[in-house]
Amino acid sequence: MILKDKVALVTGGARGIGRAIALALAREGADIVIGDVNKEEAAKSCLEIESLGRKTLALGMDVTDYANVEDAVNKILDKFGKVDILVNNAGITKDNLLLRMNQADWDAVLNVNLKGTFNCIKAVSRPMIKQRTGRIISIASIIGIIGNPGQANYAASKAGIIALTKTAAKELASRNINVNAIAPGFIQTEMTAKLPEDLKNKMKEAIPLDRFGSPDDVAAACLFLASGDSSYITGQTIVVDGGMVMA
Ligand code: NDP
Repeated sequence: MILKDKVALVTGGARGIGRAIALALAREGADIVIGDVNKEEAAKSCLEIESLGRKTLALGMDVTDYANVEDAVNKILDKFGKVDILVNNAGITKDNLLLRMNQADWDAVLNVNLKGTFNCIKAVSRPMIKQRTGRIISIASIIGIIGNPGQANYAASKAGIIALTKTAAKELASRNINVNAIAPGFIQTEMTAKLPEDLKNKMKEAIPLDRFGSPDDVAAACLFLASGDSSYITGQTIVVDGGMVMA
């Protein structure tokens, strides 16, 4: 119970990696708020978390809309009185080669992945500064480090998250708020299920540990960054990719 009495907001926590993170934090004692555009699925994940004995709040929340995010944080403060942990997990892909990528697909991915992360960091910063404690963890991607054909929008958004993490870490360090990112490799979720089989096989060959990652692999890293065990780590990006990318 290393997160007993902590309150965590997980964006995009209705399914996939976010859901695994919400469950992992709850198993260690945290009360959980799931903010997701899909409120129905968020509520289902919350029911499962309540069966662990934790309190929950399911919020229909679009991270691209700052007023919506601010309203969600106010609802969390009304119910729990504080927010200790923010996990910026909501993310989307809209892949295409540069020459075929239209403005709408560029904007949509940058809006959810990068602006959404900025909106949530900004909205929780005020209460965390007042509390003089906080943990902010954002889910980037190895694609934000190495790039990938067909993912100019996604790669730029994830590289932006890594730079945003470093800046927020420097701005908030004096208030005892740690800001870090996780860069997963290939993780088996609905996001990656839609990729063609031959591409998946090719990617697997590039993974030294010879398996795709699971949402629980990412959740384990997130739990570490949310816990007291990582109190001297800030501004970092932890790569969770089975060894695909080595610095
Ligand atoms: P999923 O698509 O399975 O889940 C993403 C969740 O975010 C969904 O519930 C989705 O709702 C929600 N969401 C989408 N847009 C918004 C929004 N504007 N506001 C709030 N919630 C939103 O993705 P994964 O679990 O695979 O990925 C989670 C994160 O991990 C993403 O940031 C992704 O980029 C990152 N990542 C994933 C990797 C992988 O291999 N899977 C690898 C590296 C990084 P809805 O269902 O309605 O769309």
